[in-house]
Amino acid sequence: MNEDERGNSENAETIAVTHGIAQDSAFGAVTPPLYMSSTYAFKGYEQAGPYDYGRSGNPTRGMLGDALAKLEGGVSAIVTASGMAAIDLLLSQLGPADLVIAPHDCYGGTMRLLKARAEKGHLKARFVDYANENVLSDALEEGATLLLIETPSNPLMRVTDIKAIVAQCRITGTKVAVDNTFLSPALQSPISLGADYVLHSTTKYINGHSDVVGGAIISANETDGEAIAHWANVVGSVGSPFDAWLTLRGLRTLYPRLQQQQHNAALIAEFLNQHPAVKEVYYPGLASHPGHNIAVRQQRGFGAMLSFELEGGEDEVRCFLSALKIISLAESLGGTESLIAHPASMTHCDMGQEARLAAGIRNSLLRLSVGLEHEDDLFADLDNALVACRDGRSKHRL
Ligand code: PLP
Repeated sequence: MNEDERGNSENAETIAVTHGIAQDSAFGAVTPPLYMSSTYAFKGYEQAGPYDYGRSGNPTRGMLGDALAKLEGGVSAIVTASGMAAIDLLLSQLGPADLVIAPHDCYGGTMRLLKARAEKGHLKARFVDYANENVLSDALEEGATLLLIETPSNPLMRVTDIKAIVAQCRITGTKVAVDNTFLSPALQSPISLGADYVLHSTTKYINGHSDVVGGAIISANETDGEAIAHWANVVGSVGSPFDAWLTLRGLRTLYPRLQQQQHNAALIAEFLNQHPAVKEVYYPGLASHPGHNIAVRQQRGFGAMLSFELEGGEDEVRCFLSALKIISLAESLGGTESLIAHPASMTHCDMGQEARLAAGIRNSLLRLSVGLEHEDDLFADLDNALVACRDGRSKHRL
């Protein structure tokens, strides 16, 4: 057994597969039991056991949290009812004077949450283009309490240098939280790069089967972890035991799933990159991607998310999407099935056109979550739809 960069003595794949296995003292069940009870009997007056009430703790949820903390190299994790609940839990510690910096092209739901909290006066929020170092330094010098990183970003796959931003934040005393949803602990370890927190929508790769909505926040140090656990009990945004049980089951296969999915994604990125009906492909694995070198340094793979722009406009997007047969048009990502989304009308519609265009999210952009289907079937589906779209265009011109 060797000590890996997360400080664990077992390899991550082994932790994902074995955490909680064969530990059932009641019946020797190999897979961990699901504890649904909302409350726990005290042994007597002032004699609570390790659990007293399901909002403050649950063995099944705790087991998932411990596995995620180990995989991310953190000290503890709180499992929440959704990815947004995890982000909001982090924000619940802040007050009206606290400034939060977030990327100007972050996930639309994160932007909506920060704007809503700022409008209510719960905190201050600034959205910054992290590629512009001067603007970022100016924002940090205003005395930001928290900085959010989403890398690769949703949907444009921009890569942010976590180590470099952490170094800037150390100077201003700003805490750094990294949304690691797109890569999962299988491909990126933000805590090893200096982050204070890792955020997840476990809805995506960690559960991986598109049948649970959940989230998690992992803390790098005990003080922060205790504060998050305290607030989780205060606001009660924790995940259900059944969702945690399913998510732990999904986590077992995270590593091989992502390996195969990113294999498919890399091939599709190359294929789309050479297709005449495609204007631009955004995938950090392409050597032409502006964040490629940072991705090589800070990631253990390029992941299975990519986005691309079609030649043409809304008509082509409509035609292309309706011609797809295997890839479903749906929000979300990270499941075993391939999903495509149109960020401007779906995941990022609440951002508003002006903010979207400023962030580079045009109406011709499509985001693809590459699944586990056979690569040939995915090529055929994409190619047929691109050809149908091109033929539709030429018919229009007749
Ligand atoms: N963070 C990222 C990067 C996301 O893509 C999403 C959802 O798509 C979220 C957070 C929110 O997660 P959830 O939908 O589980 O609330």
